[in-house]
Amino acid sequence: MQKFVQVVPLQPIRQTFTYSIPDDLAPVVHIGSRALIPFGRKIITGIIAGFTDNAVEKKIKPLWDILDPEPIWTKEFMDFTEWVANYYLAPWGEVLHAALPQGMAGESGFLVVPIVEDLAERAKLLAKTRAIKRAELLRLVALNPSGISLKTLRNKLQFGGINTAIKEYEDQGLLMLQATDAEQKAKPKFIRMMRIAENLLNDDDLREGMAELEKRSPKKATVLALLYDNHLKDKGGLAVSAIIQRTGASAAALNGLADKGYAVLYKIEIKRSFFTGIPKTPPIYQLNERQLTAINAIASAVLANNFHPFLLHGVTGSGKTQVYIEVIKKVLAKKRSVITLVPEISLTPQLIDRYRAHFGDEVAVLHSRMSIGERYDTWRAVQSGKCNVVIGARSALFAPVKNLGMIVVDEEHESSFKQTDAAPRYNARDCAVVRASMERAAVVLGSATPSLESFYNATAGKYTMLELPERVDNALMPDIVVVDTREARKKKEMHNNISFFLRDQIRVRLQKKEGIILLQNRRGFAPIQQCLDCGAAPECPHCSVTLTFHKVKNQLRCHYCGHSIPAVTACMSCGSTNVKLFGAGTQRVEEDIAALFPDAKIARMDLDTTSHKGAHKEILDTFGSGDADILLGTQMVAKGLDFPRVTLVGVISADTQLHLPDFRASERTFQLLTQVSGRAGRTAAQKGEVVIQTSNPNDEAIKSVVQHDYKGFYADELQKRKELFYPPFSRIILIEFKGKDDKFVQQHANMLKRFITPDGYSEILGPHQPPISKLRDEYRWRILIKNDKEKDGGGTKIRRALQRALDEYTTRYATRAVRVIVDIDPQGV
Ligand code: ADP
Ligand code: ZN
Ligand code: ZN
Repeated sequence: MQKFVQVVPLQPIRQTFTYSIPDDLAPVVHIGSRALIPFGRKIITGIIAGFTDNAVEKKIKPLWDILDPEPIWTKEFMDFTEWVANYYLAPWGEVLHAALPQGMAGESGFLVVPIVEDLAERAKLLAKTRAIKRAELLRLVALNPSGISLKTLRNKLQFGGINTAIKEYEDQGLLMLQATDAEQKAKPKFIRMMRIAENLLNDDDLREGMAELEKRSPKKATVLALLYDNHLKDKGGLAVSAIIQRTGASAAALNGLADKGYAVLYKIEIKRSFFTGIPKTPPIYQLNERQLTAINAIASAVLANNFHPFLLHGVTGSGKTQVYIEVIKKVLAKKRSVITLVPEISLTPQLIDRYRAHFGDEVAVLHSRMSIGERYDTWRAVQSGKCNVVIGARSALFAPVKNLGMIVVDEEHESSFKQTDAAPRYNARDCAVVRASMERAAVVLGSATPSLESFYNATAGKYTMLELPERVDNALMPDIVVVDTREARKKKEMHNNISFFLRDQIRVRLQKKEGIILLQNRRGFAPIQQCLDCGAAPECPHCSVTLTFHKVKNQLRCHYCGHSIPAVTACMSCGSTNVKLFGAGTQRVEEDIAALFPDAKIARMDLDTTSHKGAHKEILDTFGSGDADILLGTQMVAKGLDFPRVTLVGVISADTQLHLPDFRASERTFQLLTQVSGRAGRTAAQKGEVVIQTSNPNDEAIKSVVQHDYKGFYADELQKRKELFYPPFSRIILIEFKGKDDKFVQQHANMLKRFITPDGYSEILGPHQPPISKLRDEYRWRILIKNDKEKDGGGTKIRRALQRALDEYTTRYATRAVRVIVDIDPQGV
């Protein structure tokens, strides 16, 4: 038995702390359990990370309590989160915090709440057996129907066995431990139930009991009759609230029945579920040769119990999802579990439906739009092994599955797998590979347009490449036509943003009642309201960007901070009334289409129309069922949708992403256009057509999209990355400095830079200002590091050098006025 434990506080602190183990807690102290620890003057939550015999700290305090008698995480999982912390230079506690569902990381403030009504009597009985402390515990709890704080109990009782006792009573359903912390709202939801006592089930006893009750208390007799009836219908018990409602009996009457032994009060846990509706029955497909090869390759890796990474490169509509499903069947048969990561849950109703059709209640969806309670229940269902097929966005990577067999990362190229807005700034795709390797599982990265990094890894033999080059069921790839909008404008062949060519295609499909998807990757009405006389355009006062015009409210709005002002009628700098709207967002395209086709029903899908829960699904259902003719939207309409009725896809402007200041701009454009094109003509019956409008018809990315030439695009782009020393050849690290004083922020960036020791394997660039140099009233400066992936394998050297520099900088110069954010493998630079 070791003396001390090391605990990781669930805080942004780069350290573990040592605590001693009180005797009464010894049996329940395990790695991977939550513990309450005294920390300064507070009691906070931490995770037990290890045991040790000797401690470096001088004054060691004892653990305060253990929240999970059974560990919630395995040792492998703890190791994995530690790896994430090290790689992304994030505090381990912050990673663990991110891995817990909201509400489980709460601090201090625990309440002990009575559940059964007869605690006071039980306390009296106990007192007779001389279990004085326990009796006193129950008495105090019974006195406080809405709960008594654990701290008060401790102070009053001075009783070493308090944890064990409370846990025992909790298991027996007599009381429960409830966190009062605001964050800790998530707790199991219980309802109180009542059923008839076993010993009354004999007819004679029942008749006797009823007779007796009817004389003294007819209400109670009614309740008993109801309970008996319910028992006969094989339904067990009834909710106390339902009994009261149906019989008009008081709560006291029910307690009386229980006290006299006629009935039993108990509680059950209600599972709050995210799903509505019953799963459909799955269709049966004749899998094709390529699908079978892929399935066998992945399944044998799982059976061999070895880590094995795959890249599943399959064109749009090639049946990738079916490959996942077939492998999952085999994984489940081996009693192992699967995590499927998708870019965004609300855009994935079709995948969830298909999984549910096959795996029913095994499926658990972890979703940020769930209520805290739903999330907590789902998490527990996964943790306890009830659900072994987890689907979720990036944070589902941390799902507490047991016996991980496979992780699927669907649409692995998507940037949303990277967390950018808060630490830990991890990329779930990359971490999935690491988790799989630590838990000896397979990992499948699937995409029609793999990221350059993953494709490079596959060609280099790090990943096994599996290819599905054709669509299922003999469906053909769509024909793609490019319309040069500069030419069309010259020839006066444009209605605002719609070329005559695209207009004619839309008309044909509308007549045939076929589905149309239109992509305009910019929301709002017009991105700029500009003065024709002096060229000024209203900018956000808090961010260095122009404001977007929103027609509905006649407003100018900042898409970065939400700031809005009424639209201007005269120029703010010169007063001219010659102001005009430039560019087009989805709202304006909607207007253009409505003007051309007044009878067409248009469903618009962008951030502005999808703010409420369930909005995505409503819009997609409207379109899928044919109630809307046209689905118009931002990149949301490009992703994973499988609607057989779609035969035309139109891209209003392919240029929106092409010129972004991002080394991945070409790659993003290629991916978006290929993905949206893939929504057309997904059945053999109707070949699809795609119309791409652009003012850059000779761009390599766009040309490759037209030719369905992923490999050509890849080779071309890889060459450029090599020349510019960008990923996959280098690892990018971005250090961002933010603060209200521009000069000061820049100085701090320079200070840190001086502490980074130069070496032969990294280029250190900057500090420079990013394209959006001011955001939400903060000025930004950046240092960019290009680290040689070959010379510095896992990036260990640069991370060590950087950590040293950060430590040095922090001790000497750190100030609240400048925030420093380190982002490893960032997006959008
Ligand atoms: P991807 O994920 O590659 O875009 P999906 O798995 O969504 O492709 O498959 C496209 C469509 O074809 C879906 O409707 C799917 O149900 C169906 N499908 C999948 N496999 C087969 C098959 N072997 N034969 C016929 N249809 C299939
Ligand atoms: Zn002006
Ligand atoms: Zn702003």
